[in-house]
Amino acid sequence: MKTALDPVIKDTPDAAAAEAILRSCVHCGFCLPSCPTYQILGDELDSPRGRIYLMKQLLEGEPVSARTQLHLDRCLGCRACESACPSGVQYGRLLDFGRSLTEQRVNRPAAVAAKRRVLGKVVPHTSRARALLRAARWLRPVLPGALRAQLPPAQPFLSADACRWPATRHSRRVVIVPGCVQPVLAGGIDPAAARVLDHIGISAVAVMRGGCCGAVSHHLSAHADALAQIRRNVDVIWPHLEAGAEAVVFTASACSAMLGDYGRMLQGEPRYAPRAAAVSAAARDISQVVAGESAALLEALRTAVPRRPGIVGRRVAFQAPCSLQHALKLTGVVEPLLLAAGFALMTVGDGQRCCGSAGTYSILQPELSQQLLRAKVNALEESGPEVIATANIGCLHHIRGGTNIPVRHWVELLAERLNG
Ligand code: SF4
Ligand code: SF4
Repeated sequence: MKTALDPVIKDTPDAAAAEAILRSCVHCGFCLPSCPTYQILGDELDSPRGRIYLMKQLLEGEPVSARTQLHLDRCLGCRACESACPSGVQYGRLLDFGRSLTEQRVNRPAAVAAKRRVLGKVVPHTSRARALLRAARWLRPVLPGALRAQLPPAQPFLSADACRWPATRHSRRVVIVPGCVQPVLAGGIDPAAARVLDHIGISAVAVMRGGCCGAVSHHLSAHADALAQIRRNVDVIWPHLEAGAEAVVFTASACSAMLGDYGRMLQGEPRYAPRAAAVSAAARDISQVVAGESAALLEALRTAVPRRPGIVGRRVAFQAPCSLQHALKLTGVVEPLLLAAGFALMTVGDGQRCCGSAGTYSILQPELSQQLLRAKVNALEESGPEVIATANIGCLHHIRGGTNIPVRHWVELLAERLNG
């Protein structure tokens, strides 16, 4: 696509990258059928190609309006269009740049701006998120209906065994970063990952003082906050890498994807660039680590089978989060692990389609998000699973709000299968 950048932004490094991405789009439209918002709204400007066109206008210095902002806001950032694009257009990076520029040029209505500010100040901080959630649950009876509907369901009771973190006993070590809302919404996931890793010969150490990966603030275009969170994570992770940890693991696939971007995001900061690049190079989603040790996993499962015969054959519908399949390109990695563990994998239609969670999207775009949730839950429930498994906390808690079937992280199922 021919582009003539606005002289005001022309010489910035991000603009050069954005221009290169714009040029790689040949306007073929192959991405349109993969786009959830285009499927629902049928408007070209709510498709990847339409949004790319809007961002081209923006980068060329044409006046930008609230209408442009609306179409960019409606984008889930799911990156299904990237998987569908034959020209390798890096839509996600372009979207980050386009949104950031729009944020600088278009004033939002005061109420919307305040809502985004509150989300940015609360969600990435575990203690604040926990306190707000407690207060909201307490006030539930008097909350307006729309707000009440958005309250996440309470975390199912966690037994002491579900929270058990194994002792560090192996020479191979990884660090697990707890993230922000996951400990509040599903505190059993990281301990389950640590137990699975322990079974396959790897000890996991939780990074203390680690927090949000930065994605929430980044996607709200609060870049200073995002960079501060990223620097803090680099600071707390780095000593573990120096001490010999072989990988930095998130159990939420969206956070794993963000971690892989740290090197690029801090490349302009000489003090942080080398460490951030090292953290990104060591970044792994939990599925990559476990799948990389399949021989050890099979052996651990073989010895575990006689102890828990009843669990084998439990019907599982796996929901592959967009971050797992489109950002990390880890399609088909988790399913063989569940099959190896004796679960029966149910067929799930339209597996490419986003569930509508997408960070804070479910709060900021509730109508579209709920439509996507209903479609996703219908697809997941159709084959009659006993449990729904996923790989990302955002999807997990969003889908939990739309079904009566238990929704778990796949690594919890594996841990139960191994531990009984
Ligand atoms: S993003 Fe890719 S698939 Fe979509 S119009 Fe551009 S080149 Fe075609
Ligand atoms: S990221 Fe998702 S919602 Fe946004 S344009 Fe691409 S496919 Fe559509």
